[in-house]
Amino acid sequence: MLQDTIAAISTAVGEGGIALIRVSGPDAVKTVHQLFRTKADIRTAPSHTVHYGHIFDPRSGEKIEEVLVTIMIGPRSFTAEDVVEISTHGGVISVKKVLDLVLQQEGVRLAEPGEFTRRAFVNGRIDLAQAEAVMDLIRSKSDKAFSIALKQVDGKLSRLIRELRQTVIELLAHIEVNIDYPEHDVEEMTNLYIKEQCFPLIEEIQRLLKTASEGKILREGITTVIVGRPNVGKSSLLNALAQDNRAIVTDIPGTTRDVIEEFVTVGGIPLKLLDTAGLRETADVVERIGVERSRGALQEADLILLVLNQAEPLHEDERELMESLHGRQVVVIMNKTDLPGQLDPEEISRLVPSAALVKMSVLQEQGQEQLEKAISELFFSGQLETTDHTYVSNARHIALLKQAMQSLEDAVDATESGIPIDIIQIDVRTAWERLGEILGDSAGDSLIDQIFSQFCLGK
Ligand code: GDP
Repeated sequence: MLQDTIAAISTAVGEGGIALIRVSGPDAVKTVHQLFRTKADIRTAPSHTVHYGHIFDPRSGEKIEEVLVTIMIGPRSFTAEDVVEISTHGGVISVKKVLDLVLQQEGVRLAEPGEFTRRAFVNGRIDLAQAEAVMDLIRSKSDKAFSIALKQVDGKLSRLIRELRQTVIELLAHIEVNIDYPEHDVEEMTNLYIKEQCFPLIEEIQRLLKTASEGKILREGITTVIVGRPNVGKSSLLNALAQDNRAIVTDIPGTTRDVIEEFVTVGGIPLKLLDTAGLRETADVVERIGVERSRGALQEADLILLVLNQAEPLHEDERELMESLHGRQVVVIMNKTDLPGQLDPEEISRLVPSAALVKMSVLQEQGQEQLEKAISELFFSGQLETTDHTYVSNARHIALLKQAMQSLEDAVDATESGIPIDIIQIDVRTAWERLGEILGDSAGDSLIDQIFSQFCLGK
């Protein structure tokens, strides 16, 4: 199946400086050679060289495009196969014409989404966790999420998992010797040995799992809603956050009403803002209190940014709203500190004891650092740093780590309740298999299909 040559446009569709077509497989060089006129013969060109020339239609002889062609001979390429990349002028027509010509050549077909990365995986250049990280890299919405993904592409998490597996396999070997030659060993000693080996493994997995919730937040963003009465400064706050960080808006079709998700970052922390459409509208239609409008979003949010105008006394609506927020993760923003204050912070703390209080003047661009600090303290233990930290952020990896840990705990329990060693061996083997699934060692075809189908075309 992997013997054929695949091609796809690897840059985003639309107008741009350049566009790139990637061709990978045994016939990659031959295919492009048939369409490409240049000084040197690319079939004998050294790997990792770039060639200037033109793409021609081999049938009509018509000149189609002026291009740069890059040759990368396997295994030193993204897919570990021969790869040729054609850079054309940006623009939908030009790149499409060249792709069509490439696809007309014998033995070449359009790549499926994620197929280039899949080949890198199948050819053993990267493991499954690394392939998944490639996707995270593309989708990352904040600097920190990006740097976590980059480390994972680099194989940092994979190396850790491999080390864990190595310890588990040594333990398995030890147990197997004991099963095969029971007379050579005392069962009690083996039980002790199993425990000694399992405890540090369990501890290490626990440590990794602790990073999971933070990793997930950095990857997916904190689901956040901005609420408050009209004119307190909600849209101004949204605009200030969006301006500093270039908001990313994504449409998710398929729901009755398209949900708009907007990402902003406060410091390095990505926030996934819910229901910002209402905030963008001018609020003068009716005296709509944000509470009504955002009721649904309020339930869904992990973080509530409640904006108050501290130059006015508390409104009854605001008191009611605050009382309904008990136990939630709330930051109360006392906005407009450039005006004389009328709010009593103590009353706010009485109404929502769990809330963090931040004084801001959005108008005068004051208080953003305090806001960042408040959010960081609510969601992260200790210092938020990614420099030397391995985060687990992928839900699949988290689930498998939990299962592996459970099996090791079962093994330890079993040694204490006198369960026969060949049963304990099954638990240890399960832990080994689960860890392997993270790397894709024992992953089934359907799982692999599912993972790569989430990729974009051309990656
Ligand atoms: P929303 O209805 O809650 O979205 O409020 P807006 O963001 O539309 O702001 C309402 C008014 O308050 C606008 O005229 C803003 O310029 C003003 N405003 C926002 N933040 C501040 C602030 O920090 N200080 C002062 N003095 N005015 C502000």
